[in-house]
Amino acid sequence: MKEANANTAQSILVRVRNLKKYFDVSAPWITRVIEHKQKTLLKAVDGVSFDIRRGETLSLVGESGCGKSTVARMLVGLYKPTSGTVEINGKDLYKASAEEKKLAKGKIQMIFQDPYASLNPRWKVGRIVAEPIKSQKILTNSDEIEARVNSVLHLVNLSPEDKDKYPHQFSGGQRQRISIARAIAQHPEFLVCDEPTSALDVSVQAQVLNLMIKLQKEVGLTYLFISHNLSVVHHISDRVGVMYLGRIVELADKRTLFNSPHHPYTRLLLDSIPDVTGERAKHGRSPIAGEVPNPLNPPTGCLFHPRCPHCMEKCKHIAPELKTIDFHGIPVQVACHLAQEGKI
Ligand code: SF4
Repeated sequence: MKEANANTAQSILVRVRNLKKYFDVSAPWITRVIEHKQKTLLKAVDGVSFDIRRGETLSLVGESGCGKSTVARMLVGLYKPTSGTVEINGKDLYKASAEEKKLAKGKIQMIFQDPYASLNPRWKVGRIVAEPIKSQKILTNSDEIEARVNSVLHLVNLSPEDKDKYPHQFSGGQRQRISIARAIAQHPEFLVCDEPTSALDVSVQAQVLNLMIKLQKEVGLTYLFISHNLSVVHHISDRVGVMYLGRIVELADKRTLFNSPHHPYTRLLLDSIPDVTGERAKHGRSPIAGEVPNPLNPPTGCLFHPRCPHCMEKCKHIAPELKTIDFHGIPVQVACHLAQEGKI
């Protein structure tokens, strides 16, 4: 019953359907004419669909170039999709009026990987955090703006005195906390976090992740979390989507995905976590093998078939769709012929 309620339309904040982003990486027009070449398209994201419920954290994982960061950028409006829809609060981000778009964008913020590069080095922290409050006209009274800046700095465990310092006077972890303070200053509902801890030391990573979990509960935030680090993803996520060459190949709740992965790629990805106990070797599971295929010349059929230890003849010709299967009463979305036939 709880699962059914969780899936009701009211509880969904973000709805993404058949989202695609193709980049034109063709040679110049004159070269194509002389050499009789066609246009070349890089299918960075190729038909991704998912929902994010209010208050939950959905993570997207996968190797470099799988398209997870491109999805993140389309959700905040940094890239315009080639096709597909992104709905926030039921409003299509790309079909809304200018006013609705502005309102929707105020509810969405992004945290980037490198906090130093995303903060203006010539601005003091107070100005950095106050800027979105002023630009979105959330507050206009200077005393109220200052009170709001003090309050968000407090929320991220910084002090009001930090307002008068520059970003370079802080450690990496503190700078990421300033980025988070700036992001939450204008009361967003949805934070897109693109590898927010991967530039930080391991001990600092844990502090930032715990702060994000605390803020999610206190402020009621919803997160899309992008990472290649599975330990980090395990720590913060409610549900996890695994991407491969621009598509989601498996999506399930965290526990099911980590304990009972269905797609062979998910299994190999999990097996690439360093095995200090030797348990996996005892069970004959091996780390991921082979290279990601050239996305400009992707394989036919299942995109994973050249690397898949379970590849069958039909996998080479028929691309499996992402379908929901029932795993002991738990819905798991998976794009694999074998998994859909219940043989894996
Ligand atoms: Fe492997 Fe075939 Fe499943 Fe693709 S569809 S992951 S090749 S078993």
